[in-house]
Amino acid sequence: MVDLHRQYEKIKPSIDAAMQEVVDSAAFIQGPQVASFATALAQFQGAKHVNTCANGTDALQIALMALGLKPGDEVITPSFTYIATTEVIALLGLTPVFVEVNPQTFCIDATAIEAAITPRTKAIVPVHLYGQAADMNAIMAIASKHNLFVVEDNAQAIGADYHLADGRKVKTGSIGHIGCSSFFPSKNLGCFGDGGALMTNDAQLAERIRMIANHGQKQKYVHETVGCNSRLDTLQAAVLEVKLRHLDTYIDSRREVAGAYDEAFAAIPGVRIPFRSLDSRHVFHQYTLILENADRASLQAHLQSAGIPSMIYYPIPAHKQKMFASFDLGNLSLPQTEWLCDRVISLPIHTEMDDEQLQHVIQSVLGFFDSYSG
Ligand SMILES: *Cc1c(COP(=O)(O)O)cnc(C)c1O
Repeated sequence: MVDLHRQYEKIKPSIDAAMQEVVDSAAFIQGPQVASFATALAQFQGAKHVNTCANGTDALQIALMALGLKPGDEVITPSFTYIATTEVIALLGLTPVFVEVNPQTFCIDATAIEAAITPRTKAIVPVHLYGQAADMNAIMAIASKHNLFVVEDNAQAIGADYHLADGRKVKTGSIGHIGCSSFFPSKNLGCFGDGGALMTNDAQLAERIRMIANHGQKQKYVHETVGCNSRLDTLQAAVLEVKLRHLDTYIDSRREVAGAYDEAFAAIPGVRIPFRSLDSRHVFHQYTLILENADRASLQAHLQSAGIPSMIYYPIPAHKQKMFASFDLGNLSLPQTEWLCDRVISLPIHTEMDDEQLQHVIQSVLGFFDSYSG
């Protein structure tokens, strides 16, 4: 699905030099690259404060901890997402309230949010799934009306532009109260292991985030609150600092692949190519088709036999996962979400795809549908 080795080969000298500098200095924890990467990321994001952490899941957990939510508080979130988004809600003793996604954008359906709000609702966690922004203008308006926090799960959409209702163009992750990123190797900005970050424009929240991620201390050995230990390694920060400079180019490469796929697949009956919202610039962490009636497993087998990987993100929605059994979701029905889980398929998309690989995927998909309809 990705080719991280070829991506590394192209920038090897600068990555190797950055890593060697860390090794030579032996400042493996909180070396200067951690702060300089955070500064560079804040600038890229247009966010006032960035705090790095160990991974994207930690970022989401720390964000919810920083908001001071209490057990039993409700957090509205989509069920059609990677499990981390919803898992941290339950882990903190909060109650996940799952709402539908818009099958066009794959993101939380803003028109379904208000019906899910109760007196216990404290926050909304939208996910910018596959690299496309959720409907943040509507979400922020609802949040402001009901006095709710918004934590953006931006793990899949770093670098996506979003047009605010007031005309400003901003980056996803810097719109809500807190934005969370993951630098898992296959993400659009990935390191050589695990990494994550939180961003906010609120100085007080930034201070709480920093404290919570560091054992609840502001001053060494003085612990004000129960926190955790979540740090980005200096080596990862050094890698990320180099790769951040290439992120815009990486996004362009992904968008080029997506454009070629769109053109090739647009006319296949019963196949929906990814919708591109006019509000935002899709960064295509995934290129995901909806197969309205074709047999997905057969397409996967057909691609596999041509040496082409494909993935299902995500086969089981969160509200159907056993881990949430205690929330008594047996009667919860999210038809759009369940419909998507049965019909989505993601094709290889990455920064290093050459024309030969691209044509191979395209011809294999087209070949499947030719024989399918014939
Ligand atoms: C990858 C991902 C996460 C978690 O990130 P990790 O760094 O793997 O912990 C959270 N949410 C979404 C939507 C993701 O894609």
